[in-house]
Amino acid sequence: MTTATAPIFDLLVIGGGINGAGIARDAAGRGMSVLLAEQDDLAAHTSSASTKLIHGGLRYLEYSEFRLVAEALKEREVLLANAPHIIEPLAFVLPHEAHLRPAWMIRAGLFLYDHLGGRMSLPKSFGVKLPGSRWGAGLQSRFARGFVYADARVDDARLVVLNALDAQAKGADIRVRTRVTGARRENGLWRATLQPRDRAPTDVTARALVNAAGPWVKHVQDSVSTAPVKDIVRHVKGSHIVVPRVHAEEHAYILQNADNRIVFIIPYQDHYSLIGTTDINVDAYEHPGITEDEIDYLLLLVNSYLAKPLQKSDVVWTYSGVRPLHDDGSTDPAAVTRDYVFRIDALEGGPGHDHAPVLSIFGGKITTYRKLAEAALAHLAPYFPGMKPGWTRTAPLPGGDLPNGDRSAFFAEICRSYPLLPADVLRGIARRHGTRATRILGEARTPADLGQDFGAGLTAREIDYLVAEEWARSDDDVLWRRTKCGLPMTPAQRAAVAVYCARARSEAIA
Ligand SMILES: Cc1cc2nc3c(=O)[nH]c(=O)nc-3n(C[C@H](O)[C@H](O)[C@H](O)COP(=O)(O)OP(=O)(O)OC[C@H]3O[C@@H](n4cnc5c(N)ncnc54)[C@H](O)[C@@H]3O)c2cc1C
Repeated sequence: MTTATAPIFDLLVIGGGINGAGIARDAAGRGMSVLLAEQDDLAAHTSSASTKLIHGGLRYLEYSEFRLVAEALKEREVLLANAPHIIEPLAFVLPHEAHLRPAWMIRAGLFLYDHLGGRMSLPKSFGVKLPGSRWGAGLQSRFARGFVYADARVDDARLVVLNALDAQAKGADIRVRTRVTGARRENGLWRATLQPRDRAPTDVTARALVNAAGPWVKHVQDSVSTAPVKDIVRHVKGSHIVVPRVHAEEHAYILQNADNRIVFIIPYQDHYSLIGTTDINVDAYEHPGITEDEIDYLLLLVNSYLAKPLQKSDVVWTYSGVRPLHDDGSTDPAAVTRDYVFRIDALEGGPGHDHAPVLSIFGGKITTYRKLAEAALAHLAPYFPGMKPGWTRTAPLPGGDLPNGDRSAFFAEICRSYPLLPADVLRGIARRHGTRATRILGEARTPADLGQDFGAGLTAREIDYLVAEEWARSDDDVLWRRTKCGLPMTPAQRAAVAVYCARARSEAIA
């Protein structure tokens, strides 16, 4: 293997979504020299547009995806332990609708869900009466019974950034706003052209390429392969709407629809409910947006459950993402496998040759990104004799080393340490950064030490950190990915953040 200072990288990772960031972190921690290039911001695409669940995927049991569900349930435990600041348990209530799925079928599914992943720290499922109980909060009284089971939710965009931060700490070179515009094999190595957004293109050399380009996977695969490529990627769009909180309890709902799909209502960012998702085959995947039909579909479904119907005017935010799935021939977009698929293409030749492999990644889930990274490196191991073993299973992500994994105790400790700072600022910073909160707060003692207050718990001090340490370049990076502070802000508050980010960025360049 090469050293970090050598001009030849072991891996060039194309794409800074969860899969690219996860692979970069794992590989860097094994001592490989890694360059990750992301054409936009980290998590700018699918990895910030998910339903934000770390889950086994109860509904995938109906499609016999037992391997995927078992792996995802095990990963739920691993991730809860390694990133308790951004991942937390969440109870789900499934209101019973006898004409859609009989109770015995749901019980059988939940029994599997409770046991497929082996020993679990989360509680097992149970049945409940809904009317008059907290488990039925916000629902129509016609729902008599339901089932409660446990899963977890994540700040998806921050999960990506934390993986990139750890990759960088272990020597990886992370370049945002840098597109890989082409790559060709030369003397058994890859020669790739990188086009930064604000500078002249440069060429880099790497022993292997990882094509983690998400929705662009096929585009990249076609552009670097010498042989014809048979794989087909299915672009399936999913959209979400955000509305003011529909009930005051802490649990989420999983709602069944007559079309066999399910939709979640999830408590979101304290004051909101997140509702989604849809599943729609699309051809154009670069700039997905929600359609009126999708909003109608989601509202119609949730209103058949909610006591107080939602109106279109209740929708305060929407987002859409595109799943880059490996086409398995299913006619129903909801049925296409969510499992990941790898394709590797390498030059022929015996040991001692440089094979210039390229590994392309299709599909996957946020939940299984760490296992996907391990599996990706296992595919590349034959080309890197002496590759070190995996190490990420027991390694906390940056800021995730909370004492006993206890968020509440950690927050109480932060409040004790900074008694004069506003609680909403401390809470936001503790949630987003875990034990790294003290790096941001440092010697700050009074609100004035935090600099300009933009509202929603965001201050200049945190923005400075996001620009200096987390590759934030624009107000969107700060408001919608590194934080979600954009959601409760007024347009004037967002505009003030934009002005500040532009100034902080230009000072960082100068
Ligand atoms: C609606 C929806 C809901 C979902 N919900 C969940 C969920 O609740 N739980 C779960 O576990 N999973 C969920 N998923 C799945 C999960 O979000 C995806 O599997 C995952 O985010 C894919 O990550 P990725 O890294 O492959 O793709 P992306 O996040 O899209 O990253 C690929 C990156 O590659 C970059 N790129 C492309 N071409 C180039 C190039 N030439 N040079 C440089 N960079 C390039 C892109 O800019 C992009 O940022 C959901 C997906 C969707 C769409």
